[in-house]
This record gives sequence, C-alpha cells and structure tokens, in this order.
Amino acid sequence: MGLNDIKARMHKAAEDAGRAPNSVTLIAVSKKQPNERVAAVLEQGHRCFGENRVQEAAGKWPDFRERFQEIDLHLIGPLQTNKARQAFELFQSIHSLDRPKLAKTLARLAQEEGHCPDLFVQVNTGEEDQKAGILPGDSDDFVKDCKALDLPIKGLMCIPPVDEEASLHFALLAKIAERNGLDGLSMGMSDDFEKAIALGATHIRVGSAIFGARDYA
Ligand SMILES: *Cc1c(COP(=O)(O)O)cnc(C)c1O
Repeated sequence: MGLNDIKARMHKAAEDAGRAPNSVTLIAVSKKQPNERVAAVLEQGHRCFGENRVQEAAGKWPDFRERFQEIDLHLIGPLQTNKARQAFELFQSIHSLDRPKLAKTLARLAQEEGHCPDLFVQVNTGEEDQKAGILPGDSDDFVKDCKALDLPIKGLMCIPPVDEEASLHFALLAKIAERNGLDGLSMGMSDDFEKAIALGATHIRVGSAIFGARDYA
C-alpha cells in the first residue's frame, strides 16, 4: 500500500466506471498518524488531507503549513459548536454538518468572517443510534434549510454501518444528493473506496491504506 498504489487503484476504478480520474479527490486521512508518515506523503507532493478532530489538527497542521504550500485540509469528524470558529480557521472543507444548531452557528460565523469552508451534510444512511448525521428522511428539508441560510453546501457525506454492504449506502447517498441538486459525494474509505467511486464518489477518505495502521496508544 501507500500513496501511489492507492492513486493507481483510484484511477483504475474511475476508468472502469467511465469517469475522468480527476473527478475524484483523494483525501489522505492523517488522524492518529505519526508526523513522519504525514511528512513523507507531503514530500511526495500530496496536499489534500483529512482529520477527524479539531484539536489534533490544530496541533500539527500549522507547522506543516509553514513547510508546505497549498495544503487543503478537510474536517471529517464531529464538530462541536464551540470549536466551529477554530474549524473555520483550519479547514477548507467540513464534512460533518449534521444538525440544525451547527448549521446556524456556521451561518453566523460565515457572516462575521466573510467566508465559509465548503460544507458536506453528513447523512446517517444506516439510521444508527450511535452515529451522527441527518436521517435520510429528514435530509431534503435539512439541505433546504442550509441553503436558505446561504451555506455553501457542496454535497453529502456518509459512513456506512460496518456490518452492511457499503454499496447500498453509497447508492442511497447518491440518490439523495441527486434529488437535491448536489454534486459532491464524500464516501468510501480504505476498504471500499473503489465501490464508492463506481457509485459516483467525488471525495474518498482513505487513511490506513495510505499510511498504515493508526496508533491508538
Ligand atoms: C478514520 C476515517 C476514515 C479513514 O478510515 P480508513 O479505514 O483508515 O481509510 C474515513 N472517514 C472517516 C469519517 C474517518 O473517521
């Protein structure tokens, strides 16, 4: 595995689906990875990364930004409203817009700051109690409300249940996006990104297949 290997598989999956390889963005998920591994991927020229915690990202990315230009950072984990301002400063995209209160907070910040990261609405496609996200049945109304707040909604994001066929969830997410006129689909991880590309993913979030196993010590 590694960056080049994943890129090759990603391009092949796009080709097989009759899609342009550059229609899929590879977000290298660097959470819980040692800085040397992240630096090695930056040295290879990659600039698009994902983190799931604001605090962890704030601890490492300002330094990387001094050493490397044009880093594109994506927040893929839950966002507390009291960290929203910090997230605005750190991230170019937020994939975890998952509740009305957060939408209102982001809209207020966007007014104050005069800009806003690109946003993806997280949909709880498996309707799991323990998982964040808008329920599929509520997502049309939520997307409408976000647009009414002038939020820059790029698309939808999902994390399928571990014990179910991911493709069913990717197809559901694509259907919800299409009927809401949204182009962005943030779906697919190390184990299933090829299936996600076949079903229209525009952003895949791949961690361990690029960097190796995470250190949870
Ligand atoms: C950690 C994480 C990933 C990457 O998972 P891998 O299995 O290591 O590719 C993708 N998306 C989200 C939301 C994550 O938290």
